[in-house]
Parts: sequence; structure tokens; C-alpha cells
Amino acid sequence: MTSIYNLTREDLENYFLSINSKKFHADQLFDWLYVKRVKSFDDVTNIKKEVLEEIKKNYILNNIKIVNVEKDKDVNKYLFELSDGEHIEAVLMFHDYGTSICISSQVGCNMGCKFCESGRRKKVRNLEVSEMVLQILLIEEELGSRISHVVVMGIGEPFDNYENVTDFIKIINHPKSLAIGSRHITLSTCGIAPKIREFAHFPYQVNLALSLHAPNDELRNKIMPINKAYPLKEVMDALKYYYDETNRRITFEYIMLENINDSAKEAQELCSLLKGMNCYINLIPYNETNNIDFKKSNNIDVFKNELIKKGINVTVRREFGSKISAACGQLRSKEV
Ligand code: SAH
Repeated sequence: MTSIYNLTREDLENYFLSINSKKFHADQLFDWLYVKRVKSFDDVTNIKKEVLEEIKKNYILNNIKIVNVEKDKDVNKYLFELSDGEHIEAVLMFHDYGTSICISSQVGCNMGCKFCESGRRKKVRNLEVSEMVLQILLIEEELGSRISHVVVMGIGEPFDNYENVTDFIKIINHPKSLAIGSRHITLSTCGIAPKIREFAHFPYQVNLALSLHAPNDELRNKIMPINKAYPLKEVMDALKYYYDETNRRITFEYIMLENINDSAKEAQELCSLLKGMNCYINLIPYNETNNIDFKKSNNIDVFKNELIKKGINVTVRREFGSKISAACGQLRSKEV
């Protein structure tokens, strides 16, 4: 049976109408689900028993559960079991400005980026909306406090699960639900150009990040196979379109890999590629993993200064959670 957390507010309204009930129950049920955090439909007091019985015929509440939590300084990693026995992970980071959760959007991933541990397992399936929403709800319950920021940067390619990811955003952003501000939500893509264009018309002010990692096609083809389907020019054109439509600054993520993409040559190419764009670059110290040969660059500061000299906004991502394999690219749905 499907989870009620798959339904956006609008879906819920339509559902109540479809069972000849009242549209306003959608608001009431949202309140029970996301504010009161009800544990059973039987505890809902302001919707008639018959209607609740009808809901119970069609929906369950939770369809995922936390099966393991690992804690390190400033970071917790959660392993979830899904109802079909699959596993996914989410990472919670404690910042001075709040807490941010990095959620997974798929079981496995088909993008095949050469440096990424999380993508070594092929996509098994997309996550349902509820399976994304519940990563937040269950972690908040475990923490006993609210999460302020959400990044869709865990396992999976969110634009390969576009409908569910955008419904997920609608739900967590809704003022009667978790009310997580759209500017506190960031989605990261490896560069599926047509979806970037589509996302330009998604009417929520969420942040978009592109996993760039290489400033030219030759190199990007080698480390990110998706570049063969959507070469840099196509991706950059899509991002320009996105910017023209939304006026929102784009973040570029750039993993620093030793002797691969970290020389002065790439720094120069990167500057030319981004010239004139309203963007900022987040340099990511590579998290090494046992199964993959890439090494972390030791040229990050020099590279960063090259970009600064050219007037590009650049930050270096703070390193989190490598001890518990909770860092970027280290998530993997391993056996419990
Ligand atoms: N598929 C999306 C969402 C995953 S985001 C995307 O590609 O953007 C995960 C981010 O972590 C991406 O920027 C990814 O390139 C980066 N990453 C993957 N492996 C990493 C590693 N070992 N060290 C640091 N960052 C890594």
C-alpha cells in the first residue's frame, strides 16, 4: 500500500473530493501529519470515522524506518530500510546557522561518475515522495528538533526522478507542512540539460547546484559519462536559460582531484567557462574511498586563488563526516 506522505496538499484535496468528502480535510490532515506528527490514523479527531476508514483502505503512514545511526563530531549518518528491503542513507550536518540534511533521491544511481562511491551501485528504482519526506520526519523525531536546511545531494540523481523530487519540495515547503523555506532547499544535478530547463519553470525559489568537476568536454567525458549525453555547451546554455528565467544565482560544485582537474590550466579554463555568469564555485576537497583510485588534491588553495584573481566567488566546502563514510560520494546502501 502507498504512503499518505506521497500526496501533496493538492493531491490530498483531490483525494478527499474523489471520495465525496470535503476538500478542507486536506488542511486538517496536513496538520496531523506534519505538525502533530500523528502515529495512527485512528488518533485523528476532527475527521469522521467513515472517512478515516476509507483513508486506511488506501494508505498507510510510514513506509521507511531508521535501522542504524552513526554519530561523529557535527554529523550523524542514518541508514533507512525501505518497505521492499532496500536501504538508503541520509546525513545530518550541524552548522552554526542550523542543521542541514542531505537526502537521497534514488536507490542506486545510473550516472556512473567515476569518482563517486555512491554511484557504484546501478539505479534500482526512484524513491517515492514519501520516502524522501520521511527521511526528514524520522530524523527530526530522532533528534527531537527541527531541521532547517535540506540538500538533495545524497544517493541518486534528482533530475532522473524529477516528478517525485519536485512533489517532495512542494510538500516540505508548504506553510502548513514543514514550512522549510525554499531558499533553504538545494538540489544538485550532474547536468541533465532538459530538466534544468524544465526546472526553470518550477515556481519555487529553491537553489540549484551543478556538479561540474571539469572545465572542458574531454576531461568531463572521462570522469562523468553523463557529459556524453549532455556536453558542457548544452548544460551551460541550459543554466543560462535557467538564470534568465529565475534570476537565481547558480552554484557550481568542483571536486578537487589530484593531477586530474586541479592545475592552473583547468583554473583558467574554469574562469573562461564561467565568465560573466552570476554564480559561485564550491571547491570540494575529494573524499577518498577504498574502492576508487582518485586522490584528494593538495593544490586547493592555489587553485582557489587563481579563481579569486579573476573575480570569481569561490568557497571551499567544509569537510564533514569522512570518519563514518558520511561525506559526499561515500554514501552507499550497504548491508546492515
Ligand atoms: N547526482 C547529483 C546529486 C549527488 S550530489 C549530482 O551529481 O549533483 C553529490 C555531490 O558529491 C556531487 O557534487 C558529487 O559529484 C560529489 N561527490 C561524489 N563523490 C565525491 C567524493 N568522493 N568526494 C567529494 N565529493 C563527491
